[in-house]
Amino acid sequence: MSDFYIKTNRIFTPLRKYAWIFTLTVAIGGLWFPILGLLVIPVILGLTFVALFKGRYWCGNICAHGSMFDSLLYPITGNKKIPKFFKSKILGLSFFALFSFKLISKFILVSSKWGTMVFWQKLGLIFVSSYLMVTVVGSIVSIAFSSRTWCNFCPMGTIQKFSYKFGKALRITKKTDEKITAARTDMCHSCGKCSRVCPMQLSPHDAFSEDNQFDSENCIRCSTCVVNCPAGILTLSNLDEAKEINSNTSPKGYDTRKAFMSTLKEINKINNTTNEYVFKFTDEDVVYEPGQFILVKIQDKPEMYRAYSISGFDNEEKTVTIDVKKMDKGYGTGIIFNNFNEGDDIMLQGPMGHELLIDKTAKEVVFVAGGIGITPFRAIVKDLVENDSAIKKFTLVYGANKENEFMFDDEFKNYSDSSDKFDYVKVVAFDDEYEGHKGFVTDVLKDMDLVDNKIYMCGPPPMTKAAEKLLLNMNIPSVDISYESA
Ligand SMILES: Cc1cc2nc3c(=O)[nH]c(=O)nc-3n(C[C@H](O)[C@H](O)[C@H](O)COP(=O)(O)OP(=O)(O)OC[C@H]3O[C@@H](n4cnc5c(N)ncnc54)[C@H](O)[C@@H]3O)c2cc1C
Ligand code: SF4
Ligand code: SF4
Repeated sequence: MSDFYIKTNRIFTPLRKYAWIFTLTVAIGGLWFPILGLLVIPVILGLTFVALFKGRYWCGNICAHGSMFDSLLYPITGNKKIPKFFKSKILGLSFFALFSFKLISKFILVSSKWGTMVFWQKLGLIFVSSYLMVTVVGSIVSIAFSSRTWCNFCPMGTIQKFSYKFGKALRITKKTDEKITAARTDMCHSCGKCSRVCPMQLSPHDAFSEDNQFDSENCIRCSTCVVNCPAGILTLSNLDEAKEINSNTSPKGYDTRKAFMSTLKEINKINNTTNEYVFKFTDEDVVYEPGQFILVKIQDKPEMYRAYSISGFDNEEKTVTIDVKKMDKGYGTGIIFNNFNEGDDIMLQGPMGHELLIDKTAKEVVFVAGGIGITPFRAIVKDLVENDSAIKKFTLVYGANKENEFMFDDEFKNYSDSSDKFDYVKVVAFDDEYEGHKGFVTDVLKDMDLVDNKIYMCGPPPMTKAAEKLLLNMNIPSVDISYESA
């Protein structure tokens, strides 16, 4: 079984990346120059003040120990589940009580030297020893379990939680308190990726409030879930912004989403890495438009789905077809490839999605596909070849690394032979033997006349990003470019 938690690229501001220098300067340098420990005083005051307005924002964006966990230790951390014990409130409060007791008793001891240089040196040493303790214990639990294990019982985290509660009671957080916000919860893929990448191992998607906000005092506002959400629905926003985002986000393509039971009718091998799955259902109210995707339930606890573009849909037979590429270390595809068998009952949700719903009033349309991103275009091209629309010409530009990786090749060739509206253009990146177009999809697009075309793309993010950049440089208006990452 693949790992549940994913090591993912964190977003590093210069502060997040290099603040650990402060940690090592104080914790180690302070052993020779104890006065350095006094630098911890403004840190404690700073985090307490910031927490009044923004909860544990400091932990995820400013904290020097946090920077050490994320920037230095992350590559070598165990990336395992943080044991419940470390997450318990009792441990957090006990640690806070112990920390406060030690600090106050040591302070009383050195206070007899008040007014002398020795007093400041000894006071500094108190903070240096605390800082060193956090560095050592925090590093051990980080390497043994997960990078931010320490942050679950850190006394500074507890101070921030108290301060945040106080700020809320004073009602001063309304504008400043930015929480993880979902544009619309009905657009969530229930894939659990936010919980798999969260350094605090929280589950935002399970706990959105009525205002679509994730109300957790342990959230360190690091935005890791925001940049990793495949639905692109997450932001860090205050309550007013959350309401505005929600009212500005159209439910189009998601309003007919529904959960329905199916039976896995067929599993067909497409190539060495890809299988086709055909699900049969009985529900009469399943509404589908070519270009949409479906969610496939992969497990119950925690309940989790994976999104797959619908490559075939038969309304009479009541079947929906998807093609799934097995990912190296992939958690969901591991379950689908190893545990799914013909005859199994599988819960589906959808169909949904609006990014690849084709504007059938357009005159010319171009589809750009890379790798497994071809799947939605199989259904879209079939629909446009078989049914009338205002579209006069549509072209599929399909990129693959090697010639033998093209999927549904015969189908697309047949469509282009039978329809004079449809052009099928293949491009191969790494195959010297290939006699057609060589290079990337962008090498084909740059030579096309795309004025007044609507362009729809699906593929790996580097492909869609590179193609989008090229198209914008070719003066194609952004409203004419839509894409989905697969
Ligand atoms: C709208 C939409 C449509 C889609 N359509 C299709 C489709 O038609 N066909 C298709 O095959 N896919 C499609 N996808 C992708 C699909 O939803 C899944 O993301 C994909 O199957 C991988 O799921 P997984 O759980 O196996 O991978 P995950 O476990 O989520 O892994 C994702 C990536 O992270 C890497 N990874 C995982 N664990 C670790 C680790 N511990 N350390 C380092 N790296 C790690 C994996 O190698 C993989 O590259 C679509 C996605 C969307 C959003
Ligand atoms: S919920 Fe998101 S922002 Fe909050 S700690 Fe987890 S990943 Fe960071
Ligand atoms: S789509 Fe996935 S990552 Fe995004 S909020 Fe929903 S469950 Fe989390």
